[in-house]
Amino acid sequence: MNSSNKMQFYNTLTRKKEEFFPLNPPAVTFYSCGPTVYDYAHIGNLRAYVFADILQKTLEHFEYKVKRVMNMTDVGHLTSDADEGEDKMVKALKREGKPFNLEAMKKLAIFYKDRFMEDLAKINIKKPDIIAFASDNIKEEAEMVQKLLEKGFAYKTSDGIYFEIAKFPNYFQLSGKKESEKNTESRLEENKEKKNPADFVLWKFSDKDGLGFESKLGKGFPGWHIECSAMSIKYLGEQFDIHTGGIDHIPVHHTNEIAQSEAATGKSPFVKYWLHNDFLDMSGSKMAKSGDSFITLRTIIEQGVDPLAYRFWLLMGHYRTKMNFNWEALEGAETALKRLQGLYVALGNEIGKISTDYQNKFKKYIEDDLDTPRAITLLWDVMKDESISPADKKATILDFDKVLGLGFENLKEAKEISIPEEVKELMEERGQARINKDFKKSDKLRKKINSLGYEVKDTGNGQKVSKI
Ligand code: AMP
Ligand code: ZN
Repeated sequence: MNSSNKMQFYNTLTRKKEEFFPLNPPAVTFYSCGPTVYDYAHIGNLRAYVFADILQKTLEHFEYKVKRVMNMTDVGHLTSDADEGEDKMVKALKREGKPFNLEAMKKLAIFYKDRFMEDLAKINIKKPDIIAFASDNIKEEAEMVQKLLEKGFAYKTSDGIYFEIAKFPNYFQLSGKKESEKNTESRLEENKEKKNPADFVLWKFSDKDGLGFESKLGKGFPGWHIECSAMSIKYLGEQFDIHTGGIDHIPVHHTNEIAQSEAATGKSPFVKYWLHNDFLDMSGSKMAKSGDSFITLRTIIEQGVDPLAYRFWLLMGHYRTKMNFNWEALEGAETALKRLQGLYVALGNEIGKISTDYQNKFKKYIEDDLDTPRAITLLWDVMKDESISPADKKATILDFDKVLGLGFENLKEAKEISIPEEVKELMEERGQARINKDFKKSDKLRKKINSLGYEVKDTGNGQKVSKI
């Protein structure tokens, strides 16, 4: 699509960079594993969504028509990804002293989903076209489990229905693991009824006090993995183009999604391109909700740091490299971003023509497996290039920012307010009063400016005026 180079992404499924050919161009069908909504998202989770957002915006920059679905896991994700422990939502109900019923569970899920959506908006992440709650799609999830039973891929035990991995020969394709290395994750308690320890739950029966949904499978709830398969197939079809998530999802969650989806539909590949972001670490280990320390976007804002500085910092690293969070690095990113913003605002109000030279370079970098570090360096190059006019620089930066999402467009609005002559004169008079250290007069003039609907602030660079 309108590209002189090759758009290519690293596909975890084939373990190499591959040229991108969607199933039905210009349509692109795209599923991102969403959060388990039992707590605030931490900034490690947000890394997964900044990456998916850059991917979506890159595709759109090349004129693909993206349909993107994201799930909200609001039931069935147990404390261990490999089916053991307590349901994370149940754990949260207990933590918050909430009643123990499905209604309270949904309310809790909606609360954390809303906080999550607020976070996404603050760092300019485009809202997916469809947000799907697992608990709203129980019928599709149960039907898929039923199909797997009928096709002989699943079996029942006293506590649930399990997928039998031995029946699916390609089970280790995504992770590249060998049978002997399967899920080495610590197990809380080995389930003796499973035929193979790596068999995974499709439907878990509710115990006496457990929360469950009525179904002909028996009262219970879907496994976390079947939820993503059933919802992605419902909204995107039995085969689709892109699936994203963090690298922690490769060996269990996504491996299981592939097995159960391909077993149920008989079609392969379930997904053409699997893309995974590396971790955000803090103090040398993966940031995790269950860990000792995690940082949310709120913490960043409370520290007085612009949340977009976090997005900017992430883009300075490639999505497939580990990044280690620390405050100095974030503050450094904020300083750099503010500098870019200041330079941008100083370019004036006029928007000229996009420099095709720079545009082509930019496209070349992002279509090469989303090389945002080089794209950011290029942004600085444009800013410093004396050979292009300020107006053309602006147009070029705005073009880059359709993908980078650093909010340059909004700076334009702030800059472009037209200040009435009367206000300008009052400001001049006030500036003189301040030079003369006549602060009484300066205050009087400030009030007069306010009464005309403008606010004036004194900064290191003189007076700054904005609309009230
Ligand atoms: P969860 O709510 O745990 O299902 O995670 C939501 C998304 O965040 C998934 O795509 C995870 O792979 C991703 N994720 C979780 N922790 C991190 C981390 N420390 N760094 C990057 N991505 C993460
Ligand atoms: Zn998922």
